[in-house]
Amino acid sequence: MQAEIIAIGDELSSGQRLDTNSQWLSKKLGDLGVRVAFHTTVGDDLSENIEVLRAAAGRSDFVVCTGGLGPTLDDLTRQAMAASFDRSLELDEPSLRYIQALFAKRHREMPERNRIQAMFPAGSQIIENPHGSAPGIDLTIEGDGKSSRFFALPGVPAEMKEMWELTVAPRIESQAGNAHGSMRYHVIKLFGIGESDVESKIPTVTRRGRVPAVGITVSRATITLRIAALSTSEEQFRELIQPTVDEIHEALGELIFGEGDAELHDVVVRLLREQNKTLATLEIGAGSQVADWLLSADPGGATSSGNLSVANISTTKKWIEGQEDLELGSDESLVACVESLARQQQSDLALLVARYPSPEEMLESQKAFPLCFALTDGSQSKVFRRYIGGNPDVLLPRIGKTGLEHLRRMLLGLRDDSLT
Ligand code: ATP
Ligand code: MG
Repeated sequence: MQAEIIAIGDELSSGQRLDTNSQWLSKKLGDLGVRVAFHTTVGDDLSENIEVLRAAAGRSDFVVCTGGLGPTLDDLTRQAMAASFDRSLELDEPSLRYIQALFAKRHREMPERNRIQAMFPAGSQIIENPHGSAPGIDLTIEGDGKSSRFFALPGVPAEMKEMWELTVAPRIESQAGNAHGSMRYHVIKLFGIGESDVESKIPTVTRRGRVPAVGITVSRATITLRIAALSTSEEQFRELIQPTVDEIHEALGELIFGEGDAELHDVVVRLLREQNKTLATLEIGAGSQVADWLLSADPGGATSSGNLSVANISTTKKWIEGQEDLELGSDESLVACVESLARQQQSDLALLVARYPSPEEMLESQKAFPLCFALTDGSQSKVFRRYIGGNPDVLLPRIGKTGLEHLRRMLLGLRDDSLT
C-alpha cells in the first residue's frame, strides 16, 4: 500500500508557513504500515490543484490532502476534486443543517458563501469535523485496474488531527488491513568519521530495497543510522532488526556512541555518573558550547551531583595568561594547562578546547582550522591536534563533539586511532 500527501495553500508554497501537517500525517500513515511515497505542496490555484490530484490518482492507494476546505474564494479543494474526476458538486443536506446550526449557536445567520462547505463531489462520503465548520471529503476514484482513495481534510492542524484520529485512520486501517503492522524505527548514532566512510564500511546494509531498511543522515556532524521495518510488535521488531544491528556494530564498533535519543554529551554525562567522576572543561574562543551541552544533559550537575565543573575564560584567566597562542602551543604547555585546570577545579578529568575560530575567521574561507584538544584523567594526559573545517553551523558543533568524543574514549579506555 502506498500513500501520498498533498498540502494545499499559497501560504505553504510561498514559504510563509511551514507545512507541518505532512510530517505529522506521514508518521501516522507509517504507524498504520502504509508507506508514504510523495509529499506535494501546491498553492491555491485550481488548474495546478487538478494537475496534482490527477497525478496522485494514477499512482497511490491513499491520498491525504489538507487545506482549502474553507468558505473563501481561495479555498478550492472540493472544486478541484470535482473537476479532476468529472464529478458534479452536490449539496449534502445534513451537512448544510450542521453548518447552519453552528452559526445559529453563535446567533448569526450563515453567510451564503458557507453553503459551499456542504457541497461534495458526487459519490463522496463525509468526514465529520466536530470542532470546525468544514466537513472533510472521502472519495474513491477507480482508475485502470487501480483505485485511489482521497481524503480531504482542513488545513487547521488541530481539526485535521482530530478528523484523522476519529475517522480517516480507522477507514484506512480497515481497508489496508495492517497485516504487516506499524513502521518502527531504531536509531544508532556515531561521531568521528565521514558519512561516506560509514557507508563504505556497511555497504550491504544501506542497499536500497533491503529489509529492514537503513538510512544514513548527518546532523551537526553526528551521523544517524535509522533502521526501519514494518512489524506487529516491539518484540518482533527487535528480532527482525537484530542481525542488522549486529552487523552495524561489527563494522563500526567503537565509533558508535549510542542508540536512541541520547546525544554524545548525554553519553559522556552518563559515563561520568557511572564512574563517579567529575569533569572540568575549558573552552577558549567562542563561549562554552561543550559546557552548555553537558549542563543541559545534567541540569544542576555542577552543584547538585558534583559531576561537572565548568571553567570559563574569565574565571580561569590567570593561568592562561601569556598563553594566548595556545593553539600553537607546545604539547607540554597544553598538558600543563589541562592539568592545572583539573587541579584548580579539583576534578578527576579535564578537557581543554583550544581554540574555537572567531566568527570573522569562520566567514573568511573554506579553510580548515588547526585545533588542539587536551585531556587529562589524573593518571594520563593527552594532546590531540586536528584540522576541522565546514560551514559555521557544522564547524562549531564538530569542534565541541571532537572534544567530547575523545573524552568518551578516555572514559571507556578506548584508543583514538579510528577517528578521522
Ligand atoms: P478551514 O476549513 O478551517 O477554513 P482550510 O481547509 O480552509 O481550513 P486553510 O485556510 O488553508 O484551511 O488553513 C487554515 C490554517 O491552517 C492556516 O493558518 C494555515 O496556515 C494552517 N495550515 C494549512 N495547511 C497547513 C499545513 N499543511 N501545515 C501547517 N499548517 C497549515
Ligand atoms: Mg488555504
